[in-house]
Amino acid sequence: MKFGGSSVADAEKITNVAGRIAVARESGDDVVAVVSARGKTTDSLVSMAQEISSNPNPQEMDMLLSTGERISCALMAMALHDRGHDARSFTGSQAGILTDGSHTKAKIVDIKADRLREALDDDQIVLVAGFQGMSREHNVTTLGRGGSDTTAVALAAGLDADVCEIYTDVTGVFTADPRVAPEAVKLSTLSHEEMLEMAAMGSRVLALRSVEFARNHDVPLHVRSSFKPEEGTWIVKETPAMEDAIVSGIAHRSDEAKVTVSGIKDKPGVAADIMTALADRLVNVDTIIQNVSADGAADLSFTVPLDELKTALEAMESLRETLGIKEISSDDQMGKVSLVGAGMKSNPGIAAKMFRALAAEEINLEMIDTSTIRITVVIPRRDVERAVRCLHEAFDLGTEAARRASV
Ligand code: ASP
Ligand code: MG
Repeated sequence: MKFGGSSVADAEKITNVAGRIAVARESGDDVVAVVSARGKTTDSLVSMAQEISSNPNPQEMDMLLSTGERISCALMAMALHDRGHDARSFTGSQAGILTDGSHTKAKIVDIKADRLREALDDDQIVLVAGFQGMSREHNVTTLGRGGSDTTAVALAAGLDADVCEIYTDVTGVFTADPRVAPEAVKLSTLSHEEMLEMAAMGSRVLALRSVEFARNHDVPLHVRSSFKPEEGTWIVKETPAMEDAIVSGIAHRSDEAKVTVSGIKDKPGVAADIMTALADRLVNVDTIIQNVSADGAADLSFTVPLDELKTALEAMESLRETLGIKEISSDDQMGKVSLVGAGMKSNPGIAAKMFRALAAEEINLEMIDTSTIRITVVIPRRDVERAVRCLHEAFDLGTEAARRASV
């Protein structure tokens, strides 16, 4: 059971969560609960560091950031003790979460869950501080923002749990963001692959890395509300029935920028040089398009998250001379909208229907990108919300999801 920051924000909420954990334990299950830092704690810890230093040491950042989850954990243990339960909290390192050494964005490399297993064998409720681990050098590390989801999934895999339940302030994963498309409905099931595409393309319900971990280790996830008892959304290994629904959901992002470099040479190695310059600066490049014009020169465009635009442009400037780039231009007013569905694999015509619907709304597509189960369009930011609503209607997602829920 993983509880997000908003679910443990104040004393009343901690008591509520302790109740959920207690009920699960009383039903006879062994319970491991992972908790996030309370409310905006991690944000305030980041600000505290910024007040002191403009370039804080990453190892010390981890020392600082890891405290938020420890607070939640200890308080949760106390709340469970008061309900008469035997509960015990563990930091990430005590829980045996071993990571690489990249401070503030460490990756889990192994789980040595012996201590947790012993505690479970002693009939204790196990509480684990999310978002943190220990490097081979025995230093405290953190897993990057939203990392408690990954802690929970990794522990579920390491302990061979029946399910990893992610408790949050929404009731599940919706066909689209309900704040943008009010007709959006909760999905009963999604495949790991579909959720991976949704998370990568802007759905913020689960951290991307946790879904990757769940897919790689075949961990069933159940995303549900901390405050309401209803079933949420199950994210499981794909079943043949899932392909019946052609489109499962729509994800969007409004914080994209586009960079275009024109007049580069059309020869092997040029795109590699451009991507290397970006990778060296840790810029996350997404959609990439290259076009060759009649005179043999090429244009290359790519999208980056808005807050990485400045670094991306610096990277391109650094290549201007060597690659003989004629022009570097950018647009910081972009967004993207993605349709995701396992059934797309075997159904032609989805792109045609999608582009037709967007054309009817006079929305201009600047770039297009696809995977076997996703179609993404890069469009002006001001059109993003309208695009989400029109696609939700064109693909009848409210009804489609409702139909699936009844299967
Ligand atoms: N507290 C950390 C964050 O805000 C980790 C988490 O909540 O998952 O990013
Ligand atoms: Mg979170």
